[in-house]
Amino acid sequence: MIRELTCISCPIGCRLQVEVSERGVEKIEGNRCPRGEAYAREEITDPKRILTTSVKVSGGDYPLVSVRTDKPIPKRLIPAAMEVLRALSLEAPLEIGQVLVPDLLGTGARVIATRTVRRVSQEKRMPAWPETATPR
Ligand code: SF4
Repeated sequence: MIRELTCISCPIGCRLQVEVSERGVEKIEGNRCPRGEAYAREEITDPKRILTTSVKVSGGDYPLVSVRTDKPIPKRLIPAAMEVLRALSLEAPLEIGQVLVPDLLGTGARVIATRTVRRVSQEKRMPAWPETATPR
């Protein structure tokens, strides 16, 4: 079977043709450098992705903080990683770049905040569910 992939290791974006059999990766073509071969092997055997999502925050000017991992994690771990992040209990203030989880599921990836959430008084907080907010 031939799998078509686009290498994302640099902006050139080489189109890769990867021949895969029951024994694994047999042949890789289309890469202009060895990084493309490494990317194709990883993508076939254990693909990884940067995880981006939002986590609940109490006491802030926003009810959620956007977060991401600082490096790719195995795709197979993303459901478990989402469970970890859903269970987090964060309190404002949070700074952009702040490390919220130092080692996500033993992957060595840190989860960092990608926005600042300031601490505010109860009256200035955004509702957690804007569609239920009373219009002013
Ligand atoms: S194979 Fe090499 S040149 Fe091509 S996109 Fe990947 S890193 Fe870039």
